[in-house]
Amino acid sequence: MSYIEKIDPELSEAINKEAERQEYKLNLIASENYASKAVMEAQGSILTNKYAEGYSGKRYYGGCDFVDVAEDLAIARAKEIFNAKYVNVQPHSGSGANMAVYFSVLQPGDTIMSMDLSHGGHLSHGSPVSFSGKLYNVVPYGVSKETEMLDYSELLEKAKKCKPQLIVCGASAYPREIDFKQFREIADEVGAYLLADIAHIAGLVVAGVHQSPVPYADFVTSTTHKTLRGPRGGMIISRTEELAAKVDKAVFPGIQGGPLMHIIAGKAVAFKEAMSDQFKRDQVQTVKNAKTLCKCLKEKGFNIVSGGTDNHLMLVNLNNMNITGKDAEAALSKAGIIANKNTVPFETRSPFVTSGVRFGTPACTTRGMKEKEMEIIADYIEIAIKNAENDNLLSEISGKVRELCSKFPVYR
Ligand code: PLP
Repeated sequence: MSYIEKIDPELSEAINKEAERQEYKLNLIASENYASKAVMEAQGSILTNKYAEGYSGKRYYGGCDFVDVAEDLAIARAKEIFNAKYVNVQPHSGSGANMAVYFSVLQPGDTIMSMDLSHGGHLSHGSPVSFSGKLYNVVPYGVSKETEMLDYSELLEKAKKCKPQLIVCGASAYPREIDFKQFREIADEVGAYLLADIAHIAGLVVAGVHQSPVPYADFVTSTTHKTLRGPRGGMIISRTEELAAKVDKAVFPGIQGGPLMHIIAGKAVAFKEAMSDQFKRDQVQTVKNAKTLCKCLKEKGFNIVSGGTDNHLMLVNLNNMNITGKDAEAALSKAGIIANKNTVPFETRSPFVTSGVRFGTPACTTRGMKEKEMEIIADYIEIAIKNAENDNLLSEISGKVRELCSKFPVYR
């Protein structure tokens, strides 16, 4: 019997049910993954007991010798996998990492040019409901109507007009490769800082299957729990020593108190895992799987935003399928397939309804699925979306999804 089971049976039951859900439902949420047992062991370790305000070697608490080792390891490994010089591994989340970058070089009221939420950007890039939209003057950019991809000459024109202090590139729902070099050129042209938020694609960047922003961006932020497959958290890479010093101050004491040393230990483990050949193979396979799923869905008549994918995710515009994103998400869920409704570029519906759905392949790739499984999954998605009202059929598919998942245990 586990300690939780003994002390807190109600919580224990919820965790056991969640474990069952993760094992037998098909996870196509583009921002999720399965952290390794080693990462989880670090997160669940006694490092959670330690206060360590400050940075390694310069703490405001005694007794930090061993947590310093954990943070030093995390930083050294992050530098190695991203080929970076200055890394801060303390941000509690991706949003916090972005906040720290803004606080490091911007004043309230300064102008940020960033991708609109409905075109694929993230809340923390300047949405009016986020701190970022409340504190800064946000000029959103989107994809081109014709190609549904970024148009770099349009971006340059916009930047020349609004003269931002900071340009943010990177997204939560953009299926195409981002050209960070071109963003750098635009930023240079208008004298702006460049922040590349690679929360979604960090694992692909580490494995070399997506261009790295590290040589180009003043700041690179990321979450550590998506394609990177670590614990939930954030990190920041800075281009120069001077910017890194500003970022360090903005993280602590600017926006955070004590760092989560158990999570930083989990980051250290994940970064070590990311050096392995297996990790690289998985990232390559993640993209192959996304391309295969995308191709199969296209053949079935689904309208894929921008016509395809270069990374781990795709966006399906459901307007030709007579179903909203909300209803598609519900039907898929009944069929055992977990995905999220998503706005599409030039969206006409509310974010609670939406016209699209986003699929991602990191999680199912981590459990070992390959192209053959993507073909089967595309069939199940088609049946679920085209028979959203047929509960019997959805339940039958859910049984098949369970069988498929059983062949690929999450923790082998
Ligand atoms: N940046 C991007 C591009 C994201 O997609 C996300 C999360 O989905 C974040 C930042 C925020 O990360 P967190 O949820 O850890 O705050």
